[in-house]
Amino acid sequence: MGRKYVRDLRWGWQCPRCETDVPVSRDPSTETFRWECPTESCLSVGFGFSSRRKARIALREYHERYQEIYR
Ligand SMILES: [Zn+2]
Repeated sequence: MGRKYVRDLRWGWQCPRCETDVPVSRDPSTETFRWECPTESCLSVGFGFSSRRKARIALREYHERYQEIYR
């Protein structure tokens, strides 16, 4: 399960726009999770997720939508 587990951790952690790795963090004031692209020229952001997992899923869906728009 080692290698598969690593891959599971990886998916959904890239910025939908520039594919930079983005950190998911917890916002203590709202008790929700947010992700924020560290690239200054991009600054994509998502917030208000009730769990780290939901933030990841949202990132992945955002990414898929973005790809479709560009096709
Ligand atoms: Zn980005």
